[in-house]
Amino acid sequence: MALEQRPVGKLDRAVIFLGPPGSGKGTQAKVLADKYGVPHLSTGDMLREHVGELGPDSLVLKMVAERIERPDCSRGFVFDGFPRTVAQAKYLGELLRAHGLRQPFVIHMVIGHTLLIRRLTGRRTCKVGGEIYNIYDRPPKVEGICDNDGGELIQRPDDREEVIRARLLAYDKQTSPLVNFYRRLGLLYEVDASKSVPEVEQEIVQAVASIRGAR
Ligand code: ADP
Repeated sequence: MALEQRPVGKLDRAVIFLGPPGSGKGTQAKVLADKYGVPHLSTGDMLREHVGELGPDSLVLKMVAERIERPDCSRGFVFDGFPRTVAQAKYLGELLRAHGLRQPFVIHMVIGHTLLIRRLTGRRTCKVGGEIYNIYDRPPKVEGICDNDGGELIQRPDDREEVIRARLLAYDKQTSPLVNFYRRLGLLYEVDASKSVPEVEQEIVQAVASIRGAR
């Protein structure tokens, strides 16, 4: 859906998208990664491909450690869906330090629960290129077909209304403590994720440009 973009320059660290399911992490992570020409690492997608739903901590950590050691991550990368717990965040911090990389820049997608339900029940993802649509807010030109590559648009099994509430509760319990964890470290940037996709994008791109080269 986004126009093909040339990398705008160098990203010099990891960027983490933190926010509840449906807040727009995947959508914005893809834009940012394309813009800077760095990998977009979605642990959710990686796990869904390999083992189905949530993998055990050890598997996720191993997968992440292996992935960020590849040369394409040397200029930075964008994380969406990781870390999910304070323990994972501490592990990531150590991993980055061990590789001589800067600490991450964390974008907190702030949004209320009501909007999330609409976004999650309406979410459809291209089976081929991973482009993210929403049948209410970002529909494809032709129903069920990706605008970019003609791929089939599918609904994730965990986007059914019965399971969404449980996922939001899990986020509040396990992942939302990361907001304070990163805030105390001075690494957190808050974005109003209830705005439109281009508005949120603009804010994020400006924020990321402003930290490049710092620390
Ligand atoms: P997450 O990765 O945080 O779970 P996604 O990026 O997959 O979230 O977005 C969830 C759904 O909401 C998708 O259907 C997407 O098209 C839609 N969406 C994302 N950002 C916005 C926005 N700013 N306004 C309206 N809909 C959005």
